[in-house]
Amino acid sequence: MSETIREGGCGCGHVRYRMTGEPIMVHNCHCRLCQQQTGSTSVVNVFIESERLELLQGDFTDHQLPGGSGAIHTTRRCSRCGTAIWSHYARLGTLAAGVRGGTLDDPDSVTPDVVIFTESKMPWVPLPEGIPHFEQYYDFNEVLREESCARLGALAARRKAGEG
Ligand SMILES: [Zn+2]
Ligand SMILES: [Zn+2]
Repeated sequence: MSETIREGGCGCGHVRYRMTGEPIMVHNCHCRLCQQQTGSTSVVNVFIESERLELLQGDFTDHQLPGGSGAIHTTRRCSRCGTAIWSHYARLGTLAAGVRGGTLDDPDSVTPDVVIFTESKMPWVPLPEGIPHFEQYYDFNEVLREESCARLGALAARRKAGEG
């Protein structure tokens, strides 16, 4: 069985990466921190296991910033042009990454599973129809596919056992 392959990269072409398989979940986050850190209305984070991500070329600089929970997350940026490529968040550490959806060669190939932190959404941004949205965060088990919850559970167990 062949898995879906997606590739992407930074603005200057130095960083190229490949993602193998479907994401665990895709978040569209409108929290103030995502707005500030992207300079935009919101971020699209495509979450996937780190072992399904391959850096094909280039290298990163790592930047630490607080996320919505107050916990520090690490954003990996192209060392040359500074485009943010993906982040590792406190909950799953380096076991999983939230890849910036806009860095995919075909960003249309992913659709958010959920829109979060709509409480701080810029008032002129419409909410998409047919995608669940929440004022803040949400319960994975109520929204995500069973398979995604299982993948998150497996990662959480590895994290608890000291990995990542
Ligand atoms: Zn670059
Ligand atoms: Zn956010």
